[in-house]
This record gives sequence, C-alpha cells and structure tokens, in this order.
Amino acid sequence: MPKTNPIKKLIKRSYQHFAARYGSHKRNDKTPRLLVLMYHRILPADAMQAKFEEPGMMVTPETFENNLILLSELFEFTTLSKWIERKNSGQTLPQKACVITFDDGWADNYEYAFPVLKKMNIPATIFAVAEMLNTHAQFWPERLARVVYWLAKHQPDALSDPSLAWIRTDQQGIRFSDSLPNNEELSVLIGQAKRFNDSEIHAYLDNIEQQFAIDACDLKPSLLSWTQLKEMHDSGLIDVGSHTCHHIRLNEKVSEDTIQYEITASKQILEKQLGGPINTFCFPNGDYSNYSLSVVKQNYAAAVTTQQGWNTDQQDNHLLQRIGVHEDAAKDPIAFQALISGWH
Ligand SMILES: [Zn+2]
Repeated sequence: MPKTNPIKKLIKRSYQHFAARYGSHKRNDKTPRLLVLMYHRILPADAMQAKFEEPGMMVTPETFENNLILLSELFEFTTLSKWIERKNSGQTLPQKACVITFDDGWADNYEYAFPVLKKMNIPATIFAVAEMLNTHAQFWPERLARVVYWLAKHQPDALSDPSLAWIRTDQQGIRFSDSLPNNEELSVLIGQAKRFNDSEIHAYLDNIEQQFAIDACDLKPSLLSWTQLKEMHDSGLIDVGSHTCHHIRLNEKVSEDTIQYEITASKQILEKQLGGPINTFCFPNGDYSNYSLSVVKQNYAAAVTTQQGWNTDQQDNHLLQRIGVHEDAAKDPIAFQALISGWH
C-alpha cells in the first residue's frame, strides 16, 4: 500500500470540514433545490457479495442509517415522482428536498435498506431493471468480477491466457498485487471493459465461463423478486422507476429499435407487475444519446443521470443530476457532508 502524504491528508481533511460546515446542504437559498442521492447496494461489510463489488457500489446498513439521521436534520425527504408532480403542477417546492435513489433493484435493498426506511418513515425511489428482476441474471460488472476472482482462486495461470486479454486496454495478461484481486483492482478492469458494448461483454464472458468450466449457477439471486418489489411499492414508501429492461447503456452504439424497446417495454412490464404508473427513469451508467433522451422524454415525467451535482427548479426534468454515495465517503459524518456539499 502506498503511504498517504500526511500534508495532503491534512489539507483534504480541512477542506472536508469547511465543505461540511458551509456547503450547499447548509445554505437556505430562495430558489428551491433538490439533492438526489444515488445508492446501489446496502451490504454488511462481511457479506460474501461485498467481495465481488466495486467499492463505489455499496454502503453498510449502519452507514445508511447514519446518513439518513444526518440528512433528516437538513432536508425534506420526498420521492422523485412526488417532486416532479409538484413542480409540473406549479405547487410550491420544498426549499431543500432530498430524494434517496437506489439503482438496479438489488435484493439487499429489501433485506437491509427497506427495514431502515420503514423504521424512520423515509421514502425512497428504486430504479429497477425490468427483465432481470426475479431471475438469476447478473450484471456484467458483477459477472466479470466473479469470473476473475474464480480464476485467481482456482486457476491463477489462466489469468495470462490470451482469451482474457480483451479485458485490459493494454491487451496484457491480468496481474494483481496479491494472489486474489482487491475491489479497486476489479474496479479498474470493469472500467477498461466499458469500451465494449454490453452484449459484446456478455458474449466474451459466456466464452470464458465455458472455456474454464466456471459454474455461475450456484448463486442465489442478487436482484429483487417481484414479491419483494411489490411489497415495498405497496407500502407507499417506495416509489419505483425504470432502469431499462436489461441494463443497456443507451448511447450512440445501440440501435434505435433496442433503445425504443428498453425504454418503453420496461415501463409496461413494471406497470403490469406493480399495478400502478411508472413515471421516472434512470439512464444505466448515466449514458444517453439525443435519440434515447427524446424517447425517455416521450414516455416519462422525469429522469436521472450520473452527472454529479445538485438541481435547481430550472434543471431539465430529464437530466437530473445526482451525487453517488459509497462507503468510503459516507461512513464518516464530515466526509459525508463534504460529499453532499456539492463542492466536488
Ligand atoms: Zn445501474
């Protein structure tokens, strides 16, 4: 591990204290503002699934609860549907509103986040991937992490196999600082693989799993079942939005037919399963094209991206900005307030 420069650490800490005290979350402007927080997975630190995740993807249940306690002193909580409905009907918006969002529809949202939200009576919005819920399907970053981890553990020599060279941009074999990859190393590999489109990556992974006889079916589903999502939706606390059918990044590389399908079919499936309207959308990986944005505008009242920042009531309803939350930046109250200060 490289040593952290103590001066740099001190400067960073002083900056965090300053941002925590004077950031946007502490100000009361005349114009209404909206902070949308982006969470993914809520997992205890020692959970098996935490091994295969990128560090930016999770917070622990304790950190999540502490975040909510702190936020509840500063914000009025709402859901994205309610905020947009109030905005579109010309009603007064809260001066400082906060929407908690969860991307993808992980089963751990039901297991670990929902009990906390119920206990504190705080609403949240879950963006679900309509055709992957209720199945054993995995997202490719999770698949890639599991495959690489499995190989490092069972067949380390295979990591230099040419069939794996596509994963890295330098087309070299894969090496780790230790015998098993850590979460940061997995995150770098996932970042490099993003230069391919989603179906190419799944095809590469199919080949590797076949070639090395990796059995990925012994896993319990990592995404929500319809029963779990319906129970949360029917509680009145959880608002559900679409995150496409298959978590396809809706950029220029994708055909118009696919874009149209992913955006409209996901809405229909969720509405049918939940028995209520689905009015909000979340772009996978924050990617969009002019075409996908126009289709989203035709079908939904609001959409969120991964663009970092706060929103005023002047922000485009379909390009709402968010701030991503992860354990490293969220477990300490000063670092968490610096993160949500909007000064990054
Ligand atoms: Zn996602």
